[in-house]
Amino acid sequence: MSADRNVIIIGSGPAGLTAALYAARANLQPLLIEGLEAGGQLMLTTMVENWPGFREGIMGPDLMADMRAQAERFGAEIVQSHVTRADLSRRPFMLTLSDDRSLTCGALIIATGASARWLEIGSDRKLAGHGVSTCATCDGYFFRGKPIAVVGGGDSAMEEAIYLTKFASKVTVVHRRDTLRASKIMQDKALANPKIEFAWNAEVAEVKDVGQGEVTALVLQDIRTGARSELAVDGLFIAIGHTPNTSLFTGQLEMDDAGYIVTREGSRTSVPGVFAAGDVQDHVYRQAITAAGSGCMAAIDAERFLEGLSEPHPASTEGAVHQVR
Ligand code: NAP
Repeated sequence: MSADRNVIIIGSGPAGLTAALYAARANLQPLLIEGLEAGGQLMLTTMVENWPGFREGIMGPDLMADMRAQAERFGAEIVQSHVTRADLSRRPFMLTLSDDRSLTCGALIIATGASARWLEIGSDRKLAGHGVSTCATCDGYFFRGKPIAVVGGGDSAMEEAIYLTKFASKVTVVHRRDTLRASKIMQDKALANPKIEFAWNAEVAEVKDVGQGEVTALVLQDIRTGARSELAVDGLFIAIGHTPNTSLFTGQLEMDDAGYIVTREGSRTSVPGVFAAGDVQDHVYRQAITAAGSGCMAAIDAERFLEGLSEPHPASTEGAVHQVR
């Protein structure tokens, strides 16, 4: 059975759009399905100062718009839709879109990313990019000499808190328990840092601002007594974990315990012909530039895979390791 498309890419962050650019330039006429969070996490960021080549930085949404236009210039087709079902049990792979359309492809690149978890208290999402951030590497620089808070008790929270002491006058880690989940070494580093203080057994009940998107304080609630207090800060970094967007592939691809897709030999997943790029398979680096690099790898891997399979090929998932979650 011939496929509707050589390559379909799911996801439109830096990984997906870079894969689309490379696949288009390889004459594979890729189709990119944008997904629910079009443009990915950079759409939630303001100035990106660590994307090489932009001396003065570039706004996250502008960078994504340019990447998209560049991929389209070389013939990538981008559709505003999301995938509701994926059948990877045989090639061509079959995807069902939100409008119930079905599409098949000879190679699939998964770049669905990971979504940062939010507190879901309303004011945190409202002030995203205006004092509330989920990425210290992206936004820490804006808080030079200012007091800020980090919420979370895991390795990410410790790492972000330590990193942020380079800029902030003081970092308060707000954690909902009185013991940290972070590894011993990260705990020790954070606890020994003179610029880091801890607010134990506390939850962020509200982020206060002056109405112009300028954070002024957090309302903290003691989870044992319910007592509320205010902590004056200029910014809040939420580091309570990420969720990889892999639910479509549960039981079909090998994943690690946290649900990230396992890749080997570049971008190869446990199913031949399926490649993964960006944060959906990376919980270590999680940078736009590393996501873009892995998107490039996935396009090259997909191209090589298709070149080796110019004849119709039977389903070949034999030997693949499937971890059913
Ligand atoms: P994590 O280990 O799952 O920790 C999440 C933290 O956020 C926990 O302390 C949790 O509290 C807290 N939390 C979750 N939901 C919350 C909510 N709604 N409100 C308040 N607090 C909430 O996530 P992570 O720190 O992102 O780490 C993910 C994985 O990556 C881990 O395996 C970690 O070791 C690894 N990692 C490693 C490094 C490193 O080695 N340098 C750096 C970053 C990440 P509770 O503790 O009460 O559950």
